[in-house]
Amino acid sequence: MPRMTSPSTAKATPIFRSEDELASLPASQRIRYRLVQADRRYHANDNIAAFVREGELVELKAEVQAKLQEVLEALVIDTDSDHNTNETAKRVAKMYIDEVFRGRYVPMPAVTEFPNAERLNELMIVGPITVRSACSHHMCPIFGKVWIGILPNEHSNLIGLSKYARIAEWIMSRPQIQEEAVTMLANELQQRVRPDGLGIVMEADHFCMHWRGVKDTQSAMVNSVMRGAFLKDANLRREFLSLLTRRTG
Ligand SMILES: [Zn+2]
Repeated sequence: MPRMTSPSTAKATPIFRSEDELASLPASQRIRYRLVQADRRYHANDNIAAFVREGELVELKAEVQAKLQEVLEALVIDTDSDHNTNETAKRVAKMYIDEVFRGRYVPMPAVTEFPNAERLNELMIVGPITVRSACSHHMCPIFGKVWIGILPNEHSNLIGLSKYARIAEWIMSRPQIQEEAVTMLANELQQRVRPDGLGIVMEADHFCMHWRGVKDTQSAMVNSVMRGAFLKDANLRREFLSLLTRRTG
């Protein structure tokens, strides 16, 4: 597995560090050290909650705030006399860690699974679920809708309808790439529900297309993942997709 190769990372992650040594480091470096030791990936859309210890999110927020303050300074904004930007670094740090990127730092919401006692085997559709994310490339907002189609079998675990939205929110509250977000959501649901078929469609508006770049006003992107029966059975897939159209239209 390739390690990070940037010089700063290499410097910050020697072979072994004692607990005392670790304690003297900023929280971000401690967390990164644990991730590297465990050979775990920590891309923008990865969840790293298992490597964050109690109280460290508060420390992270303070670190992010200090760095954002430097960004504002580099942008030559006088945050001392400009009352509008006075607290901006603090607000944005809080927004990143506690809200829009929260899905990186907290464990998955608790989900109770029920055995499929009724042996339901009909197509089930959940959606549209409103999702909010941010693109990994520009950290611009992404707003969209997700539809989930499930074809359970007698061995499937069913989860409450609201839980689909909770899991989707957890995955989307990270800097994401739409294609990867949909795949991550599919993997999570596949593992939990174990259906015969799983279909996910995401339609989202990418603000990096409005705000910058081509400044296009039409920037909806549609992605789908089809697994199991949805892949093999064209009729099932058609049924799922036609029900979505009816709901959007
Ligand atoms: Zn973007």
